[in-house]
Amino acid sequence: MNMKQIFLCAINNILSGSCKEDCKFCTQSVRYKADIDRYTFKSIDTIVSEAKQAKALGALGYCLVTAGKGLDDKKTEFVSSVAVAIKKEVEGLNLIACNGTASKEQLSYLKAHGVDSYNHNLETSQNYYKEICTTHSWQERYQTCEDAKSVGLTLCSGGIFGMGESREDRDELLKAIASLEPESTPLNFYHPNSALPIKSNTLSQEEAIEIISTARNLLGEERMLMMAGGRELLFGGDESKMFDAGANAIVIGNYLTTSGENPSKDHQMLSDLGYEVASSCGA
Ligand code: SF4
Repeated sequence: MNMKQIFLCAINNILSGSCKEDCKFCTQSVRYKADIDRYTFKSIDTIVSEAKQAKALGALGYCLVTAGKGLDDKKTEFVSSVAVAIKKEVEGLNLIACNGTASKEQLSYLKAHGVDSYNHNLETSQNYYKEICTTHSWQERYQTCEDAKSVGLTLCSGGIFGMGESREDRDELLKAIASLEPESTPLNFYHPNSALPIKSNTLSQEEAIEIISTARNLLGEERMLMMAGGRELLFGGDESKMFDAGANAIVIGNYLTTSGENPSKDHQMLSDLGYEVASSCGA
Protein backbone atom coordinates (compact mmCIF):
# COMPACT_ATOMS: atom_id res chain seq x y z
CA MET A 1 0.00 0.00 0.00
CA ASN A 2 1.28 3.45 -0.91
CA MET A 3 1.16 5.42 2.35
CA LYS A 4 1.08 8.66 0.38
CA GLN A 5 -2.52 7.83 -0.42
CA ILE A 6 -5.33 8.51 2.01
CA PHE A 7 -8.64 6.67 1.82
CA LEU A 8 -11.91 8.51 2.37
CA CYS A 9 -15.03 7.03 3.88
CA ALA A 10 -18.44 8.67 4.41
CA ILE A 11 -21.23 7.85 6.82
CA ASN A 12 -24.99 8.04 6.38
CA ASN A 13 -27.19 7.82 9.46
CA ILE A 14 -30.18 6.19 7.77
CA LEU A 15 -32.20 5.64 10.98
CA SER A 16 -31.31 7.93 13.84
CA GLY A 17 -31.60 8.34 17.54
CA SER A 18 -34.13 5.81 18.76
CA CYS A 19 -32.09 3.32 20.74
CA LYS A 20 -33.14 1.93 24.13
CA GLU A 21 -29.63 0.74 25.09
CA ASP A 22 -27.57 2.68 27.65
CA CYS A 23 -24.16 3.21 25.97
CA LYS A 24 -22.88 6.20 27.93
CA PHE A 25 -21.04 7.71 24.97
CA CYS A 26 -23.99 7.68 22.58
CA THR A 27 -26.37 10.57 21.89
CA GLN A 28 -28.66 8.15 20.07
CA SER A 29 -29.73 6.46 23.30
CA VAL A 30 -33.18 7.78 24.18
CA ARG A 31 -32.23 7.56 27.88
CA TYR A 32 -30.07 10.69 27.78
CA LYS A 33 -32.38 13.00 25.82
CA ALA A 34 -29.53 14.56 23.84
CA ASP A 35 -30.60 17.28 21.45
CA ILE A 36 -30.13 15.48 18.11
CA ASP A 37 -32.23 14.79 15.01
CA ARG A 38 -34.22 11.60 15.48
CA TYR A 39 -35.96 9.96 12.53
CA THR A 40 -37.02 6.54 11.34
CA PHE A 41 -36.18 5.16 7.92
CA LYS A 42 -34.73 7.85 5.65
CA SER A 43 -36.07 7.73 2.10
CA ILE A 44 -34.08 5.52 -0.24
CA ASP A 45 -33.99 8.25 -2.93
CA THR A 46 -32.41 10.65 -0.42
CA ILE A 47 -29.83 8.05 0.64
CA VAL A 48 -28.90 7.27 -3.01
CA SER A 49 -28.50 10.96 -3.78
CA GLU A 50 -26.33 11.41 -0.65
CA ALA A 51 -24.24 8.40 -1.74
CA LYS A 52 -23.68 10.07 -5.13
CA GLN A 53 -22.50 13.24 -3.37
CA ALA A 54 -20.12 11.23 -1.18
CA LYS A 55 -18.69 9.47 -4.25
CA ALA A 56 -18.19 12.84 -5.94
CA LEU A 57 -16.21 13.97 -2.86
CA GLY A 58 -13.87 11.01 -3.26
CA ALA A 59 -15.36 8.55 -0.76
CA LEU A 60 -14.50 4.93 -1.50
CA GLY A 61 -16.33 3.54 1.51
CA TYR A 62 -19.95 4.35 2.30
CA CYS A 63 -21.33 3.33 5.66
CA LEU A 64 -25.07 2.80 6.24
CA VAL A 65 -25.74 3.23 9.94
CA THR A 66 -28.90 2.45 11.88
CA ALA A 67 -29.40 3.31 15.54
CA GLY A 68 -30.41 0.52 17.89
CA LYS A 69 -28.95 -2.55 19.48
CA GLY A 70 -29.13 -4.64 16.36
CA LEU A 71 -30.92 -5.87 13.28
CA ASP A 72 -34.50 -7.09 13.12
CA ASP A 73 -36.36 -8.23 10.01
CA LYS A 74 -37.57 -4.74 9.10
CA LYS A 75 -34.15 -3.14 9.38
CA THR A 76 -32.44 -6.00 7.54
CA GLU A 77 -34.89 -5.60 4.66
CA PHE A 78 -34.45 -1.83 4.66
CA VAL A 79 -30.64 -1.87 4.65
CA SER A 80 -30.70 -4.52 1.92
CA SER A 81 -33.03 -2.41 -0.23
CA VAL A 82 -30.78 0.61 0.27
CA ALA A 83 -27.73 -1.47 -0.73
CA VAL A 84 -29.44 -2.71 -3.90
CA ALA A 85 -30.47 0.85 -4.85
CA ILE A 86 -26.98 2.30 -4.27
CA LYS A 87 -25.21 -0.52 -6.13
CA LYS A 88 -27.55 0.06 -9.09
CA GLU A 89 -26.93 3.79 -9.28
CA VAL A 90 -23.47 4.49 -7.87
CA GLU A 91 -20.42 2.66 -9.16
CA GLY A 92 -17.32 1.92 -7.16
CA LEU A 93 -18.53 2.42 -3.58
CA ASN A 94 -17.55 -0.15 -1.00
CA LEU A 95 -20.78 -0.53 0.98
CA ILE A 96 -20.48 -0.97 4.71
CA ALA A 97 -23.45 -1.76 6.92
CA CYS A 98 -23.32 -0.71 10.57
CA ASN A 99 -26.41 -2.01 12.26
CA GLY A 100 -25.38 -3.40 15.62
CA THR A 101 -25.74 -6.99 16.76
CA ALA A 102 -26.60 -9.30 13.88
CA SER A 103 -27.07 -13.01 13.30
CA LYS A 104 -25.23 -14.96 10.62
CA GLU A 105 -28.49 -15.23 8.65
CA GLN A 106 -29.02 -11.46 8.72
CA LEU A 107 -25.41 -10.82 7.75
CA SER A 108 -25.63 -13.29 4.86
CA TYR A 109 -28.81 -11.58 3.68
CA LEU A 110 -27.07 -8.21 3.64
CA LYS A 111 -24.16 -9.70 1.71
CA ALA A 112 -26.49 -11.26 -0.84
CA HIS A 113 -27.97 -7.79 -1.45
CA GLY A 114 -24.70 -6.03 -2.16
CA VAL A 115 -23.26 -5.11 1.24
CA ASP A 116 -19.48 -5.61 1.12
CA SER A 117 -18.45 -5.03 4.70
CA TYR A 118 -19.85 -4.90 8.24
CA ASN A 119 -18.85 -2.30 10.80
CA HIS A 120 -19.19 -3.27 14.42
CA ASN A 121 -16.93 -1.62 16.99
CA LEU A 122 -15.74 -3.26 20.19
CA GLU A 123 -15.83 0.30 21.65
CA THR A 124 -13.54 -0.29 24.64
CA SER A 125 -11.70 -3.09 26.46
CA GLN A 126 -13.67 -6.10 27.68
CA ASN A 127 -12.77 -5.09 31.23
CA TYR A 128 -13.89 -1.43 30.98
CA TYR A 129 -17.00 -2.18 28.94
CA LYS A 130 -19.24 -2.57 32.03
CA GLU A 131 -18.49 1.08 32.87
CA ILE A 132 -19.90 2.32 29.59
CA CYS A 133 -22.75 -0.09 28.83
CA THR A 134 -24.86 -2.42 30.96
CA THR A 135 -27.58 -3.46 28.51
CA HIS A 136 -25.55 -5.70 26.22
CA SER A 137 -22.20 -7.42 26.47
CA TRP A 138 -18.79 -6.91 24.95
CA GLN A 139 -18.73 -10.61 24.09
CA GLU A 140 -21.86 -10.17 21.99
CA ARG A 141 -20.06 -7.44 20.05
CA TYR A 142 -17.03 -9.66 19.48
CA GLN A 143 -19.27 -12.50 18.30
CA THR A 144 -21.02 -10.32 15.71
CA CYS A 145 -17.61 -9.32 14.35
CA GLU A 146 -16.59 -12.96 14.01
CA ASP A 147 -19.93 -13.83 12.41
CA ALA A 148 -19.58 -11.03 9.84
CA LYS A 149 -16.28 -12.50 8.72
CA SER A 150 -17.62 -16.04 8.72
CA VAL A 151 -20.28 -15.18 6.10
CA GLY A 152 -17.70 -13.55 3.82
CA LEU A 153 -18.20 -9.88 4.68
CA THR A 154 -15.03 -7.90 5.29
CA LEU A 155 -14.87 -6.50 8.81
CA CYS A 156 -14.52 -2.93 9.94
CA SER A 157 -14.02 -2.78 13.71
CA GLY A 158 -12.58 -0.17 16.03
CA GLY A 159 -13.42 1.74 19.17
CA ILE A 160 -13.72 4.99 21.09
CA PHE A 161 -10.96 6.50 23.20
CA GLY A 162 -11.04 9.12 25.93
CA MET A 163 -14.01 7.78 27.93
CA GLY A 164 -12.05 7.49 31.19
CA GLU A 165 -10.40 4.17 30.32
CA SER A 166 -6.86 3.38 31.46
CA ARG A 167 -3.83 2.92 29.26
CA GLU A 168 -4.09 -0.84 29.84
CA ASP A 169 -7.70 -0.74 28.65
CA ARG A 170 -6.58 0.99 25.45
CA ASP A 171 -3.92 -1.62 24.83
CA GLU A 172 -6.37 -4.44 25.56
CA LEU A 173 -8.93 -2.96 23.16
CA LEU A 174 -6.38 -2.60 20.36
CA LYS A 175 -5.17 -6.18 20.90
CA ALA A 176 -8.75 -7.46 20.79
CA ILE A 177 -9.43 -5.54 17.58
CA ALA A 178 -6.23 -6.89 16.01
CA SER A 179 -7.22 -10.44 16.96
CA LEU A 180 -10.23 -10.08 14.64
CA GLU A 181 -7.94 -9.10 11.72
CA PRO A 182 -10.29 -6.42 10.44
CA GLU A 183 -9.84 -4.92 6.98
CA SER A 184 -10.44 -1.49 8.43
CA THR A 185 -10.28 0.03 11.92
CA PRO A 186 -11.96 3.33 12.80
CA LEU A 187 -10.48 5.13 15.81
CA ASN A 188 -12.97 7.50 17.42
CA PHE A 189 -12.06 10.08 20.04
CA TYR A 190 -14.91 10.71 22.44
CA HIS A 191 -16.89 13.83 21.61
CA PRO A 192 -18.34 15.16 24.90
CA ASN A 193 -22.00 16.14 25.06
CA SER A 194 -23.52 17.67 28.19
CA ALA A 195 -26.52 15.32 28.01
CA LEU A 196 -24.31 12.21 28.30
CA PRO A 197 -23.03 10.62 31.52
CA ILE A 198 -19.40 10.88 30.32
CA LYS A 199 -18.72 14.60 30.59
CA SER A 200 -15.27 15.07 29.08
CA ASN A 201 -12.65 13.53 26.83
CA THR A 202 -9.74 12.41 28.99
CA LEU A 203 -7.26 12.03 26.15
CA SER A 204 -4.27 14.24 25.26
CA GLN A 205 -2.98 14.55 21.70
CA GLU A 206 0.18 12.68 22.72
CA GLU A 207 -1.94 9.78 23.99
CA ALA A 208 -3.98 9.80 20.79
CA ILE A 209 -0.76 9.60 18.75
CA GLU A 210 0.38 6.66 20.88
CA ILE A 211 -2.95 4.92 20.25
CA ILE A 212 -2.62 5.38 16.48
CA SER A 213 0.93 4.07 16.34
CA THR A 214 0.13 1.11 18.62
CA ALA A 215 -2.85 0.29 16.39
CA ARG A 216 -0.69 0.50 13.28
CA ASN A 217 1.92 -1.82 14.79
CA LEU A 218 -0.67 -4.37 15.85
CA LEU A 219 -2.67 -4.28 12.61
CA GLY A 220 0.26 -4.32 10.18
CA GLU A 221 0.91 -2.06 7.21
CA GLU A 222 -1.77 -3.38 4.88
CA ARG A 223 -4.86 -2.54 6.94
CA MET A 224 -6.90 0.60 6.82
CA LEU A 225 -6.58 2.73 9.96
CA MET A 226 -9.23 5.40 9.90
CA MET A 227 -9.52 8.59 11.89
CA ALA A 228 -13.22 8.94 12.66
CA GLY A 229 -15.32 10.87 15.21
CA GLY A 230 -13.48 13.41 17.34
CA ARG A 231 -10.57 13.76 14.90
CA GLU A 232 -11.07 17.54 14.77
CA LEU A 233 -11.01 17.78 18.59
CA LEU A 234 -7.62 16.07 18.88
CA PHE A 235 -5.94 16.89 15.58
CA GLY A 236 -7.63 19.98 14.08
CA GLY A 237 -4.77 21.81 12.32
CA ASP A 238 -2.31 19.06 13.33
CA GLU A 239 -3.43 16.32 10.94
CA SER A 240 0.10 15.48 9.78
CA LYS A 241 0.73 13.98 13.23
CA MET A 242 -2.02 11.38 12.86
CA PHE A 243 -0.80 10.35 9.40
CA ASP A 244 2.82 10.24 10.59
CA ALA A 245 1.68 7.93 13.40
CA GLY A 246 0.16 5.48 10.91
CA ALA A 247 -3.35 6.60 9.97
CA ASN A 248 -4.17 6.19 6.29
CA ALA A 249 -7.90 6.92 6.11
CA ILE A 250 -10.34 9.55 7.31
CA VAL A 251 -14.09 9.93 7.53
CA ILE A 252 -15.16 12.76 5.29
CA GLY A 253 -18.26 14.87 5.96
CA ASN A 254 -20.45 14.62 9.02
CA TYR A 255 -20.44 11.92 11.68
CA LEU A 256 -23.57 10.29 13.09
CA THR A 257 -24.79 13.15 15.24
CA THR A 258 -21.90 15.63 15.16
CA SER A 259 -20.61 17.81 12.34
CA GLY A 260 -17.33 16.96 10.67
CA GLU A 261 -14.90 19.19 8.82
CA ASN A 262 -16.04 20.79 5.58
CA PRO A 263 -15.05 18.22 2.87
CA SER A 264 -13.33 20.84 0.71
CA LYS A 265 -11.17 21.82 3.71
CA ASP A 266 -10.19 18.18 4.15
CA HIS A 267 -9.22 17.92 0.48
CA GLN A 268 -7.14 21.08 0.85
CA MET A 269 -5.52 19.73 4.04
CA LEU A 270 -4.56 16.47 2.30
CA SER A 271 -3.12 18.27 -0.68
CA ASP A 272 -1.20 20.72 1.55
CA LEU A 273 0.34 17.74 3.35
CA GLY A 274 1.32 16.09 0.05
CA TYR A 275 -1.21 13.26 0.18
CA GLU A 276 -3.36 11.99 -2.68
CA VAL A 277 -6.92 10.83 -2.24
CA ALA A 278 -6.95 7.09 -3.00
CA SER A 279 -9.06 6.29 -6.04
CA SER A 280 -9.48 2.57 -5.48
CA CYS A 281 -9.50 0.21 -2.53
CA GLY A 282 -6.88 -1.98 -4.20
CA ALA A 283 -4.40 0.88 -4.48
S1 SF4 B 1 -26.48 0.25 20.92
FE1 SF4 B 1 -25.61 1.64 19.37
S2 SF4 B 1 -27.20 3.21 18.98
FE2 SF4 B 1 -27.71 2.15 20.87
S3 SF4 B 1 -26.92 3.43 22.53
FE3 SF4 B 1 -25.37 1.84 22.06
S4 SF4 B 1 -24.01 2.75 20.51
FE4 SF4 B 1 -25.89 4.02 20.60
